Amino acid sequence: MSISLSNEKLAAAAVLAELLVPGRRVCLTTHVNPDGDGLGSEVGLAHLLKARGVDVLIANPTVTPARFEFLMRSLPKVDRSAEAVKTLRGADVIVVLDISDLSRLGMLSQTVAERGVPVACIDHHVSPGTLPPGPHYVDPSAAATGELVSEIALANRWPLTAEVARALYVAIMTDTGGFRFSNTRPRTLRIAAELLETGLDPESIYLDVYANAPAGRPRLLAEALQTLVVEEDVGLAWVTVPPGAVERHKVTVDDLDGIVEFPRSIAGVRLAMLFREMSQGRVKVSLRSVGDVDVAAFAKPFGGGGHVHASGVALPGSLPEVQATILAAARDYLRGVPRG
Ligand code: AMP
Ligand code: MN
Ligand code: MN
Repeated sequence: MSISLSNEKLAAAAVLAELLVPGRRVCLTTHVNPDGDGLGSEVGLAHLLKARGVDVLIANPTVTPARFEFLMRSLPKVDRSAEAVKTLRGADVIVVLDISDLSRLGMLSQTVAERGVPVACIDHHVSPGTLPPGPHYVDPSAAATGELVSEIALANRWPLTAEVARALYVAIMTDTGGFRFSNTRPRTLRIAAELLETGLDPESIYLDVYANAPAGRPRLLAEALQTLVVEEDVGLAWVTVPPGAVERHKVTVDDLDGIVEFPRSIAGVRLAMLFREMSQGRVKVSLRSVGDVDVAAFAKPFGGGGHVHASGVALPGSLPEVQATILAAARDYLRGVPRG
């Protein structure tokens, strides 16, 4: 094994191995609008457990985006949102991946809160956590939850099959923006290398995730980028998804992933945002930052969260209302952070 694990992590991995055993029905879940890390971590862990004879199901609060369906195909019993509550009700153990907050489990929050079974958590978010009790394997310094599932496998000497490795590689690749973001540590690359050692073809994984888009994705991107506003004095830039554009281009919100990197790519920008209308009169704001600007701290008073350089909030109100509130707060916040 090319990475070292603290005694604390080895102990936490052993506790999980004792909990996730044959005879127990294990249900895995992740946050709403699952991303490559949430799904890849679930699929990786599901294959690891299946290989050990554990009865394991995945039940998510919202559907799998088309670009990640290739990962789920080899798991016949993946539940989608409609049956997810039923699946959770039959579980002896729940494992929540890539989130520590109950509220981000959407329609499954209440069931997870009330079941009374152990709720294990494997996550890398900066959050005190609001899940029911259960063993935790949480490390905010990890680039992706996929890193942590890899560590758990390595700690327990569970074999990394090609299926496991592919899913965990997708998890780490997507949360690091293809190994480019500041969360990419030497350890991240060592773990990714361990996964590639199984014989994975990184290009085919890249093509599956990033080069298999509907034509509406670049068309929507073009429209969103037209809305770009840059405020050079404070180092703020944002784009707005025009209302109705997602439906008009016949895409899904997953196709918006990565757009916020464009305002972040501008010289001098320290805080980049993407605004989009959600259903039920709410607006989602994706926040990305560089350097000393901490968007997890910025998001907190608004009930959001995430990581230092990548966070999100969802606020009630119309698009202009939320935009006015968040932009005013962002200007204030940025004025308080000296330029490095
Ligand atoms: P996104 O902007 O959706 O790509 O999310 C960036 C990061 O912020 C991810 O780690 C999310 O888990 C987190 N995040 C996004 N939206 C929220 C929210 N409403 N509340 C808490 N965390 C969020
Ligand atoms: Mn995630
Ligand atoms: Mn993640």
